Amino acid sequence: PLSGKTAIITGSNSGIGLGVAHELAKAGANIVLNSFTDRDEDHQLAKDMAKEHGVEVRYIKADMSKSDDCRALIETAGACDILVNNAGIQHVAPIDDFPVEKWNAILAINLSSAFHTTAAALPMMRKAGWGRVINIASAHGLTASPYKSAYVAAKHGIVGLTKVTALETAEEPITCNAVCPGYVLTPLVEAQIPDTMKQYNMDRDTVIREVLLDRQPSKQFATVEELGGTCVFLASDYAKQITGTTISVDGGWTAL
Ligand code: NAD
Repeated sequence: PLSGKTAIITGSNSGIGLGVAHELAKAGANIVLNSFTDRDEDHQLAKDMAKEHGVEVRYIKADMSKSDDCRALIETAGACDILVNNAGIQHVAPIDDFPVEKWNAILAINLSSAFHTTAAALPMMRKAGWGRVINIASAHGLTASPYKSAYVAAKHGIVGLTKVTALETAEEPITCNAVCPGYVLTPLVEAQIPDTMKQYNMDRDTVIREVLLDRQPSKQFATVEELGGTCVFLASDYAKQITGTTISVDGGWTAL
């Protein structure tokens, strides 16, 4: 259903971004993968994905903490029918101890990058007469946790940006929505498990169930495939009246 469309997914050489790229490629879209590195394995990832799904896949290096790089990513791609703003980082510390450079980096990568890529992509979508902007927010775009000030502020911010983008494109064949995942077992989350095991003196399964999935009533991680499928749905014609809203993929977190 998405054949001939070009999808750009920021921060997509790992985790959710990579999963979303796979599902969009499976649905026929040509793919632009991105991260801030420029390694052989990044380009190999693109080659492998192209072969697996029979679509065009490119890898374009751009650092989402830099406004010029964000805009250059879209310009270099040359087309952008589906924009998935996914790049994101995390840092956990109390506000009065939160490193200023971490605050600035999280706001830049998790929020401002989406402003810059959207600004560069909308003229292309208007010219093509079709477009989808999908912002990967978080359950933390709708709720808060202590010690995650920058992340929660940036994710609430991107939900706000989603609504404004939707209103500015409301009469056009362009939509903008935010996907709000609960916990997904990606490298970002996997990296937190060993320390948490030590901190609570618990085994891996107990940490997963009682700490990580404490607020996820399903007691299961969402998967990158499920997030990809949600993006494919938002890109489909079924979703053309869905705009300016959030879709939670969080096992019931936000119902609590
Ligand atoms: P991840 O660490 O596996 O992936 C993050 C991606 O962003 C990587 O590809 C990384 O290379 C890229 N990235 C980081 N800094 C970048 C920069 N400066 N420029 C370009 N790319 C950069 O993490 P993930 O869990 O897949 O997270 C992806 C998104 O999903 C993030 O926005 C995150 O906040 C959000 N999210 C994740 C979870 C979860 O449980 N994993 C839950 C809710 C929301």
